[in-house]
This record gives sequence, structure tokens and C-alpha cells, in this order.
Amino acid sequence: MRLLKPIQRFALCAAAVAMLAFSVSAHAQDSNFEVWMLALKIEARSAGISQATIDTALSGVTPIQRVTELDRKQPEFTQTFWDYLDKRVTPQRVERARRLMSTHRVLLNQVQARYGVQPRFLVSFWGLESNFGSHTGGFSVIRALVTLAYDERRADFFRAQLLDALRILDKGHIAAEAMQGSWAGAMGQVQFIPSTFMRHAVDFDGDLRKDLWGSLPDVFASAANYLGAIGWRGDETWGREVRLPEGFDYGLADLKTRKPIGDWQALGVRRPDGSDLPRADLEAAIVLPAGHKGPIFMVYNNYHSILRWNRSILYAIAVGHLADRIAGLPALAAKRSDGEKPLRRADVKAMQGLLASLGFDAGVPDGVVGAKTRAALKGFQSKAGLAADGYPTYEVLEALRKSAP
Ligand code: CA
Repeated sequence: MRLLKPIQRFALCAAAVAMLAFSVSAHAQDSNFEVWMLALKIEARSAGISQATIDTALSGVTPIQRVTELDRKQPEFTQTFWDYLDKRVTPQRVERARRLMSTHRVLLNQVQARYGVQPRFLVSFWGLESNFGSHTGGFSVIRALVTLAYDERRADFFRAQLLDALRILDKGHIAAEAMQGSWAGAMGQVQFIPSTFMRHAVDFDGDLRKDLWGSLPDVFASAANYLGAIGWRGDETWGREVRLPEGFDYGLADLKTRKPIGDWQALGVRRPDGSDLPRADLEAAIVLPAGHKGPIFMVYNNYHSILRWNRSILYAIAVGHLADRIAGLPALAAKRSDGEKPLRRADVKAMQGLLASLGFDAGVPDGVVGAKTRAALKGFQSKAGLAADGYPTYEVLEALRKSAP
């Protein structure tokens, strides 16, 4: 009964309504979850998922309190660039990544030949997503997704993920009890959410199962296949650290401002040691992930692909930098700004409120520094005669407080 005819679908819906009505009257006090689960099972069945899979995967499944807590949890402080990078690109991880790249050289070359993604980047994603397969998350993906789909906060998104997770089980790629992942449903060694798995996972070892938990050929090929779909270019790198000339207009340091490398060279941008930029025919943008006092990067097309994998600008730098270190390139040239204090979430909220009061749209004041907050900060800094790097610091907050009505 994979494809239901309209009349069958109608009959199923009518049955569902009758069953729900019975359920509601029978357990009016405490059965909200049971009613929800019943409706979910009916929807899954009408989406073509087998009864056997529904029974095995969903019988007796209840929400996990811890998952709701983790979903609600908001960090008290923002993370600084160096805190973030130093935790993820450690000497031990670089060393292990190099060793593993040599161990899996033949396989990685085969994946590169088929999908065009360089081995050092595949190993870098693998290292950052699951510490090379050693931390894939200890939650039952079905239970975690049931929890988040039942919760009203992002119910639609997680319900779709849950249905995809059931489809993955239905196709026999993994057994229900082995389908482990993060509290938010990211699965296996490169942490694919179910919809990404459905669209981009591949069976590279030929056993007819897409096994992102236990098969490295499937893991690498799936990551590479996904990267190809989000625009990865196998003959380009991700970007490089640069330095800017005196008086550089920070308004140009924006992901949306893309210019040929030659134009940046003409504007005085150089490699950290002062030498010329490479003469490649590439479009690049300048990014300041730690503000104008921190390291500065010139990023290419593949940086944008990494952002489509995970939209954190720090994550994207970490993937690129780890890949560089695997290839033997040196640590960043920029000095650590040890004195930098991480901002409290409450201070970011205050900053967003002040920006709004001054007419700069910083989006919803949620205490999270996103693209809108950075753009609003740039607007304010530029008007106030400060370095317009869009980077939130206590100095900028102080200036905002002085300017606010
Ligand atoms: Ca396989």
C-alpha cells in the first residue's frame, strides 16, 4: 500500500478522525501525547511507511525530558573566535586527522575521483562532526525526534524529520535500535539530519544499505555527495588568512561583497607575511570572524558551501583551517587576543535593543549574534566613526549606551 488512491486516503482519514475522537473522550485528562502519537502513526502509514516499521520504531516510545531541556538551553556567554577554534583544531586532532587520512588514503582517493571533494576536507568535516566517528551522539533518533516533533516550538520541522527517519528505517538502512544520534536528530559519523540523509546519503560499498554509522565508504561518499550538491568545487580551496592595508574600508568586509582576487590585491590586501595574493581567477570575500583586531580571511566559493552545511561562520573557518593543517600548512599568523571577554547573552540582547532604538534593525532581540545583528552593528559603527567590522564587543556596547536616546 505504498501509493494510496484518493479514496483509500479518504477512508484512512475518516478512520483517523473516528479513532482520535474515541481516544480524546476515553482519556481526556492525560492522553494528549497518545492522541498525537496515534495521528503520527496514521500519517506515517498514509505516507507509505510499512506497518511493521511503524510498530517496531514507535511502539512504547515516549518523549525524553533531557532533549527538551537541551532544546531550551541557551548558553550564557557568546563564544570568542579563539575559544571556538582552540577547542576544535587542537594539535592532537590535527595529528590524528593526518594519521587517519593516510590510513584511508585509497578509499578517500576513490571518493574524490567519483565526487570531486579533496580528502583533507572530508577528513576535516569528519573530525569536526564526530571526532572521526568517536562521538556520534547517544540518543535514540526516533525518541529524540518524537520529543521535538511533539513539542510546539519547531513541531513542523521535526515532524518532517521524524517521518524521514521512519522512511530510513523502512528502507532497512539501519535497525531502529542502532539509529543513534544527537539530541536534535543528527545521525552518524557526519551528523546528517534525516532529510539530508534522504536526499544525499549514498551506498558506496555496494551492500545496498546507506550506513552512515558503520561504513566509512558510505560516510565519506555521502559527505562528498552532499558537498557536491551544495556547490563544492574540487579544484579550489576554501580561503586563506590575509592582512589588510591601513585605512581599509571595513564596509567591504562582507560575505556578500565578492570581488576577483586581483581587485583585492589592488586594494592592498596581502598574505599575512606581506607577499602578493595568489594569481588565481577566483571571486573572494573578506571576513572578520573576530572583528578587525582578530585574524582576517579571504574566502572563496567553498566557504559558502561550508556555510550551507552549517551556517556558523566560526564552524566554516574551523573546517577550512583544520583542512589546511592536515595538509601541513601553518597555524594562523594572527596573534591571540587573550584579553577578549566573551559577551553575556544578556549584553547581546541589550546591544540589540539599543541598536533598534537608534534605528538599526538587529532582528529579534534574542541574544544571538546573527547576520542581522552584525549588519546593524556595522551601520552603527560606521555612523559613529568606529571601525565598522560588525563585531560585538564591550567597547561597542559602551558606545551604543552613550549614543542611545
Ligand atoms: Ca553501504
